[in-house]
Amino acid sequence: MRPFTGNFTQQEPIGDDAIAAAVDVLKGGRLHRYNTASGEVSQAALLEADYAAYQGVEYCLACASGGYAMGIALRAAGVTQGEPVLTNAFTLAPVPGAIAGAGARPVLVEITRDLTLDLGDLEKKIRSSGARFMLLSNMRGHLTDMDTLTALLEHHSVTLIEDCAHTMGSTWSGRRSGNFGLAGCFSTQTYKHLNSGEGGILTSDDPQFMARAIVLSGSYMLYERHGAAPPSQYFSTVRLETPNLSGRMDNLRAAILRPQITGLDANIARWNERYRALEEQLAQTPGVYVPHRPDQEGIVGSSFQFLFPGVSAQSAQTLVSDALSLGVELKWFGAERPVGFTSRHQSWQYLEPAQLPQTDEILAGLFDMRIPLTFSVADCRHIGAILDHCLRRGSYVA
Ligand SMILES: *Cc1c(COP(=O)(O)O)cnc(C)c1O
Repeated sequence: MRPFTGNFTQQEPIGDDAIAAAVDVLKGGRLHRYNTASGEVSQAALLEADYAAYQGVEYCLACASGGYAMGIALRAAGVTQGEPVLTNAFTLAPVPGAIAGAGARPVLVEITRDLTLDLGDLEKKIRSSGARFMLLSNMRGHLTDMDTLTALLEHHSVTLIEDCAHTMGSTWSGRRSGNFGLAGCFSTQTYKHLNSGEGGILTSDDPQFMARAIVLSGSYMLYERHGAAPPSQYFSTVRLETPNLSGRMDNLRAAILRPQITGLDANIARWNERYRALEEQLAQTPGVYVPHRPDQEGIVGSSFQFLFPGVSAQSAQTLVSDALSLGVELKWFGAERPVGFTSRHQSWQYLEPAQLPQTDEILAGLFDMRIPLTFSVADCRHIGAILDHCLRRGSYVA
């Protein structure tokens, strides 16, 4: 088998238009979002207007990171000290971290083998915890049945905040991910769908909520210089009652992001071609389960997952190293200890330990990889063929 030689962490270069916009900001010297010349609208404010239009929402706030956006969303929603907040048992560290950072207590909900929420377990945990809030992590881009989920949350008066770090641009029945609850939280960190190194975007249609979030983000009394903010009447008491948790976005990063929004839908089509090429290869491999993507889901295939149910820990490790020896970097969610960006709930020891047998069984056989756009569709077929080759050798038994 011919080894693959691509780099799984190499993103595409920043486009010339974004570089030119960044150079303009640097030449002007006004990098802080509130440092504007007379009559000038800052790049950060323009980004907020651009992203609000893309997302189809009233209000948008640019901030320091995706994790930061989730943290202030929870606070602006009214989450109080020690209160339970529901979230997926399968997610990444910034999600329980944001809940803990807001002083609240994550309550982990089991997942299905399609990597979506187990709605039966969710209902059980709503009842047992009495939670008023859910931070839904649309982990690795897999959308839970949003119609059933929103009906269930509404029935129990649970407020929904969506972590859309992996679903910027995704849809469910034509509606954009992030627009199903009170707020959507997005990341523009290098490995997500827009790349400014670090960065976060928070969206909502609720003016009270967004006024609090804007003041939390460190707006001082300059909230009128935002690009997609509620009218100033919403700030009259909020600005006096809300702490400043400085976490603003600067104009340099905003300038880099704005041209990328224009290219986002085209990139989504490119990701999906690559995802479907991998999916097609692995769908043929005996013993492998590729998560089902429902018809309602408009996917963004920026990463790929497959399950090899029943695989032993030793065999899983052998598969990872066999794939690596052929140049394919797999992440395995069953590992005892956290590696790089990959961790599981047992590693978040600041949480109360939870029994999540269904999730644990799924994670024990779950493999994951990024699909950077520097890979061609042919590269993805090659990667799929390598994985198929490794998996068919049949030595990875439970
Ligand atoms: C990346 C990520 C975030 C936000 O990350 P930041 O690094 O804080 O921008 C949130 N949720 C998930 C699932 C992520 O992967």
